[in-house]
Amino acid sequence: MVEKPVLYQIASASSAGAFCPSAQPHMREPRVLGVVRDGDTSYLTEHVPLTDDLVALTEPVGPSRVLRIAARCEENACTHFDGVNCRLAARIVQLLPVVTDVLPACLIRAECRWYRQEGRAACQRCPQIVTEFSDENEAFRRAAIGE
Ligand code: SF4
Repeated sequence: MVEKPVLYQIASASSAGAFCPSAQPHMREPRVLGVVRDGDTSYLTEHVPLTDDLVALTEPVGPSRVLRIAARCEENACTHFDGVNCRLAARIVQLLPVVTDVLPACLIRAECRWYRQEGRAACQRCPQIVTEFSDENEAFRRAAIGE
């Protein structure tokens, strides 16, 4: 079966010191935030650095489709950052449905850019996020690129 091409990515920026909860492996201080299965994130209960060995285990699909990675933001190097806020976090709250009433037990809340900016509304939508996804997901596409 031929797999659909991945056209868009959800990866955000944040203020200095904060963690992006939908990061890419090349970003600073990458750690595994959770594991994605069937479109739902299971958050890890201990800090696990993202290593080359872990990345290798995710092949051939790659880490951004099966893991949620947290890392330090890239600020103005990220297309989602407007100099103050993460526009991606704002769009996620505006465009994606609530998937949980209970805040996930994630380990980065105190430093999470999305939480700092959007509060619990971000957490209520966070588990459904897949950092790298196919263009079949219209809601994700709109959230990722703002169209
Ligand atoms: S659950 Fe909330 S605090 Fe944790 S990564 Fe997601 S948005 Fe950030």
